[in-house]
Amino acid sequence: MAERILVTGGAGFIGSHLCESLAKKGYEIVALDNFATGKRSNLRKIPVKLIKHDITKPFAKKLARLGKFDFVFNLASPASPVDYQKLSIPTLLVGSLGMKNSLDFAKANSARLLQASTSEVYGDPLIHPQTEGYWGNVNPIGPRSCYDEAKRYAESLCMAYAREGTPVVLARIFNTYGPRMRLDDGRVVPNLVGQALRNEPLTVYGDGSQTRSFCYVSDLVEGLEKLMFSSLQGDVFNVGNPEEHSILEFAQLVKQLTGASSEITYLPLPQDDPKRRKPDISKIKAALGWEPKVKLEDGMKETIAWFKKEVRKNKKKEALQ
Ligand code: NAD
Ligand code: UDP
Repeated sequence: MAERILVTGGAGFIGSHLCESLAKKGYEIVALDNFATGKRSNLRKIPVKLIKHDITKPFAKKLARLGKFDFVFNLASPASPVDYQKLSIPTLLVGSLGMKNSLDFAKANSARLLQASTSEVYGDPLIHPQTEGYWGNVNPIGPRSCYDEAKRYAESLCMAYAREGTPVVLARIFNTYGPRMRLDDGRVVPNLVGQALRNEPLTVYGDGSQTRSFCYVSDLVEGLEKLMFSSLQGDVFNVGNPEEHSILEFAQLVKQLTGASSEITYLPLPQDDPKRRKPDISKIKAALGWEPKVKLEDGMKETIAWFKKEVRKNKKKEALQ
């Protein structure tokens, strides 16, 4: 019989790719999502049982009739800075109550749980590249704290359950991109690609010297699966692509790949925006042999093709209004 997997946040960007990949491998998948930032259509054509549910409310009873679960991927949480600042209280609650409900569910099922944590636990990092041993530099009352502190609390709760015997592994995910990102989620990839495709100016915040390291979603999903299907537990791993680019370089790459003649316009840098970010991935590489394979240019070509269709759809909708 196929092993059963719960994916919270399964209708989101990463969640839908994870469900697609797990379904191809023959697992039985149940996704819980409240559609706060995800979409039912992300799971169209993917054999997944999708249930609308807010995981800040317990869900063990709702899922009891489906039988025992073997694995829980806990991905539910707004992830884009624009989304989580709009949804600051729900973000804090999904990282606390939602995390507890997922851990209780895993414990009751004797299932392994993988928590989708984030490079944001390092805040505006004072060491570079970031290793798992770094404790971070987070402003606890700033506009990003609803996300950063929720994810830090979630890690702490996971470790408390792990110390009591629940098999939990933490994945600190760094900036990930690919098809099914929402054009309007406010992150740098959809913003700049959408602007380039509409021939609008590309909005670079600050002077564009801040850096990020972009991981294509198929690589990320492979890293998450390797972690889940290993025997590692009670431990934390960075998962991301260590190739670092300034945001200005990234804007230039978007212009080149889209062929847009858009200008670059400079807007104020948001408060507490991390200045540099690059994962040290030696820990996961040594433990599981995982490292990303997809080159930024190749991943961006796939992503641009997706956003082209989205821009076309939006134009059609506008024409009908
Ligand atoms: P996303 O917003 O596309 O997906 C998140 C999903 O969670 C959405 O479908 C949303 O509707 C759902 N959700 C939110 N609150 C919920 C709740 N209370 N109950 C049920 N469902 C809920 O974001 P994503 O980029 O796919 O991120 C997925 C996970 O990975 C998140 O936990 C995020 O923090 C983490 N992560 C992502 C990145 C990245 O670069 N994309 C980086 C670090 C960490
Ligand atoms: N950014 C930008 N222009 C945009 C959106 C974002 O210059 O239109 C910058 C943002 O200030 C940050 C980086 O791009 O320095 C990555 O932002 P994103 O929101 O994608 O994710 P973050 O890594 O900050 O969570």
